[in-house]
Amino acid sequence: MEESYLVSARKYRPSTFGSVVGQKALTATLKNSIATDRLAHAYLFCGSRGVGKTSCARIFAKTINCQHRTPDGDPCNECDSCRDFNEGRSLNIIELDAASNNGVEDIRNLVDQVQVPPTTGRYRVFIIDEVHMLSTAAFNAFLKTLEEPPSYVIFILATTEKHKIIPTILSRCQIYDFNRITIQDMIDHLQYVAGQEGITAETAALNVIARKADGAMRDALSIFDQVAASSRGTITYQSTIENLNVLDYEYYTRLVDAFLASNVQESLLIYKEIRDKGFDSQFFVNGLAGHFRDLMVAKDPQTICLLEASDDVRSTMAQQAKKCTPQFLYKAMELCNNADLNYRVATNKQFLVELTLIQLCQLLSPSPTNSGDGEGQLKKIEPVSAPSAAPAPQQQASTPVAKPAPPVAVNPQPSAAPTVAKEPISHAVHPAPAPKTFAKVAPLGSMRSISELNDISIHGNRKKTEQAEANQAGVKRNEPFTDEDFAKAWNEYAASIPTEKIVANAMITCKPKRVAEGHYSVRALSLLQQRQLEEARPAILRFIADKIKNDNLSLDVDIIESEDEAPPSTWRTAKVLDRMKTDNPYLDTFIAEFGLKPD
Ligand SMILES: [Zn+2]
Repeated sequence: MEESYLVSARKYRPSTFGSVVGQKALTATLKNSIATDRLAHAYLFCGSRGVGKTSCARIFAKTINCQHRTPDGDPCNECDSCRDFNEGRSLNIIELDAASNNGVEDIRNLVDQVQVPPTTGRYRVFIIDEVHMLSTAAFNAFLKTLEEPPSYVIFILATTEKHKIIPTILSRCQIYDFNRITIQDMIDHLQYVAGQEGITAETAALNVIARKADGAMRDALSIFDQVAASSRGTITYQSTIENLNVLDYEYYTRLVDAFLASNVQESLLIYKEIRDKGFDSQFFVNGLAGHFRDLMVAKDPQTICLLEASDDVRSTMAQQAKKCTPQFLYKAMELCNNADLNYRVATNKQFLVELTLIQLCQLLSPSPTNSGDGEGQLKKIEPVSAPSAAPAPQQQASTPVAKPAPPVAVNPQPSAAPTVAKEPISHAVHPAPAPKTFAKVAPLGSMRSISELNDISIHGNRKKTEQAEANQAGVKRNEPFTDEDFAKAWNEYAASIPTEKIVANAMITCKPKRVAEGHYSVRALSLLQQRQLEEARPAILRFIADKIKNDNLSLDVDIIESEDEAPPSTWRTAKVLDRMKTDNPYLDTFIAEFGLKPD
């Protein structure tokens, strides 16, 4: 007898309840109902593909016909009946795949067979797979039999889509919901199979296979065969990710380390490595977003169960998650999401992804506004925004961290924006020395004395003493403030009115510029924007005045005169890039070194 090659999915198909992977509670209940002889006439097995529904149905059929069940309720696999089952000769099991046999005729044939009692054994079991595929007429033809089958008949209906089963069927069945098989259960089973086959397999490699199988044990075993076939007795992590062309979490873990260290070069190099391996950039961006999501759930012991991974990977992820603040993760997910949304329309997709990586590196980098102490802008700015109750948590995360934000995000340095807007696009990527915008911002951002403020205030030149009296009376506040304070309050207001899209967008895209102390002007891009901003002006000024504790404020709203003056389409990208350059003087060098271009 020559030994034929059996694929693992068939060879290691479970033959007892005990060997069904990942369904312990469910198989225990089934065994118990057999042991106590409390069988229903019809069962409905629900669950996604590859979780063991058909296997359980077969084991169930075999067990109830077994002549010498084991003490713990499994089939003996030795008696005549069990052997007939195992060799596919038993007449007591009839399987119908409703996906391909869903007509009335098919059901009539089945109903005819139901009338025939078993010649050996006690029960005949009818398994109807993908039962939701039956036509309505077929369902109706089946209903009567399902309701009152002969005593020797048991129906086991299986479906991947329980919601498609009509209530009249549901109410006649005992329902079992199969779990998705966890990654760890799969790894354990694959390890067992590898052992039986005399193959050494690294746990990390099996983890990759289990993830790829996405909850289906059958698929996991097929993939295992594929990898084993080319591995000559040893399945390594490296050979597995190469064989399956999988972008595994290890890349993402390295990338996040680079983000945390604000290491732009490293992140760009890892991205190149990933591209060189032939991975699609959008696929990569989505994978990265998924990794941030996994880190978020790994941060909390309560949610780590949502992380589909082996125990090893879980602890690695939990360790990395400890290094990330929630704000960092929210913001990072948002950046990835934006990149994903913009991907299709981007003319230079690689640049878009690289820009996103750079922005991710900026999230925790030191900058002029956080005094470069390496604390990170997130940590630095967080407490400031806390008292403002208006923005929702997510906006809180995005508003104060405006610096590394995606193109549409707010910009905390108002004076910089309009300046940049009028500059040619190319300026953003040329390795220009000391961006002009920063030079302009610095003097404006400096503190001014109270007397100076009072003198210039367009609301009248008050003397210090007069002001103090006014304050006591609760009339006019006049605390010193910087353009940055003003811009910050401006952005906070914009973030607090998410439903007033026109005003919010206008405030995000058009930044106020100081024309005199306390007096600002903003240039709307359209007549509509101008009107809306004018209408909102009192509310905006009230809000800002409360924030910076200064009532001597005014705001002009004019409109950009000509088309020429309107910002170019890539203006936002250019703006963000300019911002990042002011934060990180080395960025120009990187851009030059990597030969990055905006279009
Ligand atoms: Zn038996």
